[in-house]
Amino acid sequence: MKVMKFGGSSLASAERFAQVATLAQESVEGFSLALVLSAPKGVTNALESAVYRAVAGYSDELLEPVRQTLDELSDGAELDLEAREALMALWQQELAQVAQKLQGVALLGRCPDEVVAEVMVVGERLSVHMMMALLTARGERNAFLEPRRYLMARGEALDAQVDIEASRQRLASLPVGEYRFWVMPGFTACNQEGQTVTLGRNGSDYSAAALAACLHADSCEIWTDVDGVYSVDPRLVPDARLLEEMSYKEAMELSYFGAKVLHPRTIAPIAQHQIPCRIRNTLNPQALGTLIHQEGAGSDAVKAVSHLAEQTMISVSGPGMKGMVGMAARVFDAMSLAGVSVSLITQSSSEYSISFCVEEQDQELAVQALEETFALELKSEMLDPLELMPGMAIVTLVGDGMKTRKGVAARFFRSLAQASINIAAIAQGSSERAISAVIRNDDAAAALRICHQNFFDSRLYVDVLLVGCGQVGAELLSQINQQQQALNDHHVALRVCGVANSRQMLLDPHGLGLDDWREQLEVKGQPMCLEALFAFAHDAKLTNPVLVDCSASDALGARYVDAMNAGLHVVTPNKKANTADMAYYRELRQVARRQRRQFLYETNVGAGLPVIDNLQGLLRAGDELHSFGGILSGSLSYIFGLLEEGVSLSDATTRAREKGFTEPDPREDLAGMDVARKVLILAREAGLELEMEDIQVESVLPASFDASGDTDSFMANLPQADAEVAQMVAAAKAENKVLRYVGAIEADGSCKVAVQAVAPEHPLYAIKGGENALAFYSRYYQPLPFVLRGYGAGTAVTAAGVFADILRTQAWQKEG
Ligand code: ADP
Ligand code: ASP
Ligand code: MG
Repeated sequence: MKVMKFGGSSLASAERFAQVATLAQESVEGFSLALVLSAPKGVTNALESAVYRAVAGYSDELLEPVRQTLDELSDGAELDLEAREALMALWQQELAQVAQKLQGVALLGRCPDEVVAEVMVVGERLSVHMMMALLTARGERNAFLEPRRYLMARGEALDAQVDIEASRQRLASLPVGEYRFWVMPGFTACNQEGQTVTLGRNGSDYSAAALAACLHADSCEIWTDVDGVYSVDPRLVPDARLLEEMSYKEAMELSYFGAKVLHPRTIAPIAQHQIPCRIRNTLNPQALGTLIHQEGAGSDAVKAVSHLAEQTMISVSGPGMKGMVGMAARVFDAMSLAGVSVSLITQSSSEYSISFCVEEQDQELAVQALEETFALELKSEMLDPLELMPGMAIVTLVGDGMKTRKGVAARFFRSLAQASINIAAIAQGSSERAISAVIRNDDAAAALRICHQNFFDSRLYVDVLLVGCGQVGAELLSQINQQQQALNDHHVALRVCGVANSRQMLLDPHGLGLDDWREQLEVKGQPMCLEALFAFAHDAKLTNPVLVDCSASDALGARYVDAMNAGLHVVTPNKKANTADMAYYRELRQVARRQRRQFLYETNVGAGLPVIDNLQGLLRAGDELHSFGGILSGSLSYIFGLLEEGVSLSDATTRAREKGFTEPDPREDLAGMDVARKVLILAREAGLELEMEDIQVESVLPASFDASGDTDSFMANLPQADAEVAQMVAAAKAENKVLRYVGAIEADGSCKVAVQAVAPEHPLYAIKGGENALAFYSRYYQPLPFVLRGYGAGTAVTAAGVFADILRTQAWQKEG
């Protein structure tokens, strides 16, 4: 004997019914088959709604949705006229009885659970009538297996539990071999009083499992609308993985904690009798589905993640709880007497409080029961008022392998933290097969996504929010766009979820298309607002959000602390934050540490050259900076190279600007401010507590030159400085020297940036054309310095440096 159960989704239309009949015929070889059917999709809901609405008065309309479904089914059924009419007569009989019950409910003015059960189970009977008609039409011998006669159950009328032993005794008299097909309505049983009961919503799975156990079936197949059991609900996380097999215990935990693919009580009976169970897809019968049996397999510690929504967490606490014997027993007795099922329990080790979750719809019953049970304690304030947290969900990781694998819980909680999800309570079953966290309902989908990503997806996620799309920003976007495939190959999922300039911003939690970001920003952008940007990162639960500041804005630099407090990493070539006052400089680092966010600014000095990282590495390893000297400005390196060839200052500056070597305002370069900032940043890295005013700055521009006005008028006036600069160049040349703009940190800690004439033997003599050279003299590197040299200017290298920093924010490394 084999049992096959088909869910409502498999019985959603006449074609599906026909398909199911065919599947049954193809499976019947060699033995009898029990088909357990759900109601056609939507019918149970329609019946439930009809019976409750009947309290307010009966109307024929109440059953209209069911009639409509039946009309559609009969229209498409492969039956001759006679068979069709016979089927419709059976359906009408069923509906007439339902109508009678609804009228009774209307007269009574209330609907007892027993009547609700009688009405709700009719949907499965309608399915069975149709299936039997189809099988008969195809010449297959079949019989109705009446669950109200054979499946005995106990407990609540709308959520009963099958009594396997009693049912087995009854089924012993079933002449199994007489028919090839037995067709049984699912969801239905009877209690000892002979009343009809249901096995709870979604209970047909359980009917099938119970029948399989009672008949010692060789196997039990549950046919539904997905290919099997997935690592997470595929409707919520599209990347869900299909599981080939899992153990009974894993399946039990998973269904208990909300995976709708199986009713929670389904597994116990088949596990007890070790009946293998397969979950299969009616729409894709070639797929083998998921096998649930004694031994699960696979090396993954975690098999799946699921969630139970709409929970209320109730906490019972108070001074009177400490040491009071039997408190927990009284709490849970009260729940059990009230018929409230408890989904998760935690207790503080000081015994000061017990917290547990119940379904939101049971909240009032639960509170009433507790208030009655603890009336005295509450009155005498031995107990605090009950604490209720509605709107919660339980997220659970399930897997047999969790027992032996370390770090799963840590990774679980870190994942939730990563998505800024607050955990209200934690529980781990003693089997160590499941670990749960109680969180807000609204966070459940994000929690499933992030846990799935961290446990099942080998990709690392980075979500970029770029502010400033001038030259470097635009180049960065184009590099990211070009690099997508390579990143994918390296399992990095880098999405640009936001692009903004000073006026507008464009946000998309799924990542923007980068081919036409500029047009999109123009057309669809909303006004730029940093608060809204931070709120977006939070609300969209971006996995690893990084604020990339490619602007030159002081104002934005001043907001990095807020950005990190809002959960963003910060990556920037903008030097403004690191050269603000020391107090802010320190605060940035403190907040980064406290919020576990990365603040990366490798491109602050030397563009793409790995200056900061190397320096930090050396200093961490115990080295000490003694002095420093170098050419730190790509633009000035380029400009001074041209001066040496006889080009005028204004001409050289224009060319540098065209090449994207200068700051947006070239005065920053020529006045020495840009180099001064870099020196200050290096000095601070080395531990010197200096402010911007402490750096002696000598401008490239002659003292007499008026450098005021906007950028364009400055550039227009610049030729006025040409003569004086040319003179300096000539004077140096007369001594066989060239001019270089040098930044230095002296051994006494003083810092200066100035024009210097250097002879051919000087190491900086050859540095020009945009090249940077940095020489660090340190405890370990002396008398020969540690030198970094290379192209230190230009949009492409700077953007590449920013890109590298963005990728370094993947602090979230996968274990195991
Ligand atoms: P049926 O009508 O066949 O009983 P259900 O709707 O009750 O079907 O159950 C199947 C649904 O369960 C799937 O469509 C899927 O959305 C949901 N589901 C939830 N968790 C999982 C999971 N881990 N694996 C597969 N399906 C799941
Ligand atoms: N038809 C019932 C329900 O919708 C039982 C089932 O489908 O499993 O809950
Ligand atoms: Mg179901």
